[in-house]
Amino acid sequence: MRRFIQLRDRECRQPACSVPGHRCETDHIIAHYKGGPTSQNNLILLCKKHNLLRQRSAWSYDHVKPGILAFRTPTGHTHTTKPEPMTCGRFSGGSGRRRGRRLDCLLR
Ligand SMILES: [Zn+2]
Repeated sequence: MRRFIQLRDRECRQPACSVPGHRCETDHIIAHYKGGPTSQNNLILLCKKHNLLRQRSAWSYDHVKPGILAFRTPTGHTHTTKPEPMTCGRFSGGSGRRRGRRLDCLLR
């Protein structure tokens, strides 16, 4: 399950954060103790900092569609995010998000 979430989200889902998925935590949108399932539609990647921010402040989020999130800031603003398209091919390092080729080359 965690691998699927890492492949889908690939990095922290907080707007303007790009901590890579392997350094993020898998977080339940609806907390497990409140009955939230451990399923792909209820899990996202958040880095440690943003996971703590969400738990300790008025930030919240909803899964609008699978993989598409709506974040609500403490001031009431909403930001919708979705994962970048998946890529394949060689990765040469650096921090660019658009490295490699699109993953649909693997789906044909
Ligand atoms: Zn983050």
